[in-house]
Amino acid sequence: MVNGELMKKVAKKDIQKLLSQWQKDFTVFVPSRETGVAEMVVWDGQDTGFLDWYRNTVVPPKNNFLLNMEKMFGFGKDDGSYKLELPAPEESKQLIFGIRPCDAKAMAIIDMVFRDAYEDTYYLNRRKNTLLIGMGCVNPYDSCFCTSLGFGPMEGGDVDLMLTDIGDAFLIEEVSDQGKELLARTEGVEEATQEDEARGGEARDTANNKVTRKIDTGEIEKRLPLSFDNKEFWEKVAAKCVSCGICTFLCPTCYCFDINDEMVRGDGARFRNWDSCSFSLYTQMPMENPREEKWRRVRQKVHHKYNFYPMLFDIIACTGCGRCIRLCPVNWDITQTLSSMPAEATVGTESRNGD
Ligand code: SF4
Ligand code: SF4
Repeated sequence: MVNGELMKKVAKKDIQKLLSQWQKDFTVFVPSRETGVAEMVVWDGQDTGFLDWYRNTVVPPKNNFLLNMEKMFGFGKDDGSYKLELPAPEESKQLIFGIRPCDAKAMAIIDMVFRDAYEDTYYLNRRKNTLLIGMGCVNPYDSCFCTSLGFGPMEGGDVDLMLTDIGDAFLIEEVSDQGKELLARTEGVEEATQEDEARGGEARDTANNKVTRKIDTGEIEKRLPLSFDNKEFWEKVAAKCVSCGICTFLCPTCYCFDINDEMVRGDGARFRNWDSCSFSLYTQMPMENPREEKWRRVRQKVHHKYNFYPMLFDIIACTGCGRCIRLCPVNWDITQTLSSMPAEATVGTESRNGD
């Protein structure tokens, strides 16, 4: 019940009809494995089979806003004068169906960089034209630890509508005004009963209890600054990392990018693509590379999320989605690193120069 009113619900067998209605006004994205990895792709207007297999996507939905590669603009020379081709602002409305609470939280975290710290028009055009329809996780992975980060697998604070699986139907919580407005013009949605809401409460408790991996963020906040100069500790935790960059590319809160120009016979384009602090060339400068050694890069990744980002924006830049644990080829585990940090500072082993 929200504000004394019962929630809404939609039968699972009617999800296709629901999406078809929304497809008239939006480009609808749903979880799909058609590219070989699970990611949010444009709905084909038919398939709702993802309801049977979907736990979370491999590629996080940040890719729908900060594209893994995009052309920023074209440039070149035309009859002796220079030309610049700016892309038309994207006006099409998107709807992402089934985003998990951790990935919606990640978008709120990235907003602090691309909307608040500076305005990135490429990102913001998509963000402001997109509705997020959240879906709680009834089956979290054992690598998930979202409940340690102040929310849970069924919480919908960062979406427009939030769906909770109650068996043969989804309860629908109206979170934002835009979500409420969308639901008001959607057919096939009924009022939930008190029994439905009770089933929703049970589903939330069950899902929360399934997230058994925990970290102690209070203890981490105290220990992380003490760990910075502990070269021995970081060398040990970085030993098996092969610097592939997967943990950062597929992290929903990592947002680093690189910019490159390409030119063929007078016609050029500027591209932006994801980059990763796991790569040794990430910090290459003409005179030096402050993070040539792997342990410095692993330290940077952990400190950025749990120390530097909170200093800047007062929030940890990790949602506990567990992707970096599930998808690392050598089983590097951020929760093990965070939980094994020494409680005492090690004095004088490493200077902060360059970091
Ligand atoms: S995914 Fe694993 S091996 Fe690859 S950079 Fe991250 S920690 Fe290192
Ligand atoms: S650091 Fe790992 S657990 Fe945290 S948000 Fe990134 S991928 Fe998810």
